[in-house]
Amino acid sequence: MNKRKLVVIGNGMAGVRAVEEILAIHPNEFEITIFGKEPHPNYNRILLSKVLQGDTTVESITLNDWSWYEANHITLFTGEPVAQINTNKKTVVTAKDRVVPYDELIIATGSLPFMLPLPGAKKEGVTAFRDIYDCEKMVESSKKYKKAIVIGGGLLGLEAARGLLNLGMNVDVVHIGDYIMDRQLDPAAARMLQRELEEQGMNFLLQKNSAEITGHKRVKGLRFSDGSWREADLIVMAVGVRPNTEVAAGTGIEINRAIVVDDYMRTNIPHVYAVGECAEHRGFVYGLVAPLYEQGKALAAALCKREHAGYQGSVLSTQLKVSGVDVFSAGEFMDSDETQSMQWFDGIQNTYKKIVIRDNKVAGAVLFGDITEGAKLLGMIQKKTDYAVLEKEMQRGAGSKDEQIAAMADHDIVCACNGVSKGTIVGAICEQSLESVDDIKACTKASSSCGGCRPVVADILDFIRRNGTEEAKKLALCTCTEADHADVIEAIERYPDELMEELMHRLGWKTEKGCGICQPALRYYMGVHSERAVDIVEERQGDGTYMAAPRMYGGITGAEQLRNIANIVEKYEIPLVKLATGPRMELYGIEEHAIAAVRAELSTTAPAYGKGLRAVGTCAGIRYAKGALQDSLALGRKLEKQLESFILPEAVTIAVSSGLYDEAKSLQQEIGLIGAPAGWELYVSGERFYVSMQPEEAVQMTQSLLHYYQKTAFYGEAIEAWVERIGIMLVREEALKRKNAGTVIQNPWAAAAL
Ligand SMILES: Cc1cc2nc3c(=O)[nH]c(=O)nc-3n(C[C@H](O)[C@H](O)[C@H](O)COP(=O)(O)OP(=O)(O)OC[C@H]3O[C@@H](n4cnc5c(N)ncnc54)[C@H](O)[C@@H]3O)c2cc1C
Repeated sequence: MNKRKLVVIGNGMAGVRAVEEILAIHPNEFEITIFGKEPHPNYNRILLSKVLQGDTTVESITLNDWSWYEANHITLFTGEPVAQINTNKKTVVTAKDRVVPYDELIIATGSLPFMLPLPGAKKEGVTAFRDIYDCEKMVESSKKYKKAIVIGGGLLGLEAARGLLNLGMNVDVVHIGDYIMDRQLDPAAARMLQRELEEQGMNFLLQKNSAEITGHKRVKGLRFSDGSWREADLIVMAVGVRPNTEVAAGTGIEINRAIVVDDYMRTNIPHVYAVGECAEHRGFVYGLVAPLYEQGKALAAALCKREHAGYQGSVLSTQLKVSGVDVFSAGEFMDSDETQSMQWFDGIQNTYKKIVIRDNKVAGAVLFGDITEGAKLLGMIQKKTDYAVLEKEMQRGAGSKDEQIAAMADHDIVCACNGVSKGTIVGAICEQSLESVDDIKACTKASSSCGGCRPVVADILDFIRRNGTEEAKKLALCTCTEADHADVIEAIERYPDELMEELMHRLGWKTEKGCGICQPALRYYMGVHSERAVDIVEERQGDGTYMAAPRMYGGITGAEQLRNIANIVEKYEIPLVKLATGPRMELYGIEEHAIAAVRAELSTTAPAYGKGLRAVGTCAGIRYAKGALQDSLALGRKLEKQLESFILPEAVTIAVSSGLYDEAKSLQQEIGLIGAPAGWELYVSGERFYVSMQPEEAVQMTQSLLHYYQKTAFYGEAIEAWVERIGIMLVREEALKRKNAGTVIQNPWAAAAL
């Protein structure tokens, strides 16, 4: 079979991560060629700060060495930039006039450092801080010269300044703003940071506007617009970057601030994608790796024709990589008329914490001195967690380091750059007997990017070592395995064609066939996360017989159905007929030989026992219910008919009340609908979710909500816990998106098989 030709322009962090994602889905589908302008294989640009600071070496920041390209049959051209793209002929032409055809093209050219157009900016001794070459230039300069100025008091500038101090230079940091890191910190945190860095030997010149670089051939100093001057042998410009779109210019590929892409990183030209800092998604250009890695996943799914919700944008978080100084910032960090904030300052420990609340939701955070809570707070900001939940979490999380680690949920993200959860780290430590943070890094990618989460990863490792694996076992699916829910989902998504036995083998199941806990969970996940139909094996009752539950749509029945049920009960000598919670009748004690016939005569085909819609309860309806405003019986019937056969992570009961008095107790159910003058209101675990819907829209919205629940909840996870984990805002956004797209729940399971 002819492989599709995939060409990648840019051998940096985003482009190569996208290739890794593609290889994880289809290792053999593409013939891959990568062009890099730099002479090195793919390396971790983030860690250049650590190289400059002397904490690591250029060699050790390689992410994929030459052997990786070879092993994956990737042709790599380094030091050979692509000069032209011909989208009609579908070729790229390099600076060495090499012409290479493509079927699919990824542009991942990153950014160019912004150099202030000052007089004298071209002099020897003026540099950016973007790549290995810049780093080497600074190291060389420090061997001969002693005085450096860094222009820019942002994250990059401060990291460069710390590196130059370590290299023995005297360093001034020149910043145009009133305080440093003003794009990430509020003034209080910035002042604490400045004091700390001054103690380390940095000198700050704030509110200074650079005007001219002086000197003959080599730089001698920097003059400011106020006429003052500072001596310098080396000037590092760290004042920002601009997306590198040069190669796309004039090709018909749409460029705004950067190359414009959709949620799957597709440009306006077919078969041409852009990812990373050179791409603009919904008006945003991202300059941190976590969003770029997420983009890579969406791109890979699109290229490999895999289902994926698409890239949805990211909440940004930053951590300063200067040893001995812990700073974290995410989301909104400044106060405004629409926000409230809580602040804690500890003058003894020299720590500061600020959490910003907008519309009663967590919207941003700044931490100084102790950043252990950074990942958790980032999760809350992303999920737009309610203030009430934050309050609970703060009570739970306060305590010793051990208590904080123990209090972290399995799904809490530890490594924001790579999206690695505590559960994945604990699972890897236990399954693979990992003994060091480097082992964990190699195995899970946690702490492999900015390294800011390294202390938390070390704490988790230490905790597991001291407390044994008991803690981890609690996270596993059941005693047959040490894999947790996230591991199982990941394996199914990665190997969607594998049979259940093969997956169990891959994940190191200790039993041959699994048990009553892991078997249904595995079937459920295979149905939802692979594209194959999976049989449902119905669970028997305690005595080995079966149970059937005739549907009474919307809680409504009539003489004919009741007579039919009575006849069936007598005919098959069904020993127990019982009314259960919700409007549900259950017939117990049906023998195996009779169950199929009973189901057929009851006209109920759905598996009677399992996780799905239990029933839709209704109040007495528009005619009989007091204060009725909408037709609850019609909506209840419609909902139950539409949703009856869906298998869900956990059983769900819906209640529909026609009006003000909530007679069906909708607010007490997982999902409730209440009639209002303007239409239907939808409630999830008692919280108002969506309003003013006409019946069709109410059905579609409920279905969309359940669709998202089916796709993202863990097996056995009740709606309330799921909403708390994901965050009601995100659930609402996702449900709305599905409603607007008219998404219909696919039921991937075959009919119940006995
Ligand atoms: C010192 C430093 C510290 C940082 N710290 C952090 C941090 O702590 N956290 C964080 O999230 N992010 C950090 N970043 C930002 C992060 O490194 C970038 O967001 C990330 O590298 C962007 O990935 P990219 O692939 O889009 O661009 P790049 O990694 O820059 O890769 C683009 C590549 O394309 C090549 N290229 C350009 N044009 C062509 C062409 N025509 N043909 C072939 N190749 C071409 C470039 O030479 C480059 O190698 C830091 C950046 C720097 C410089």
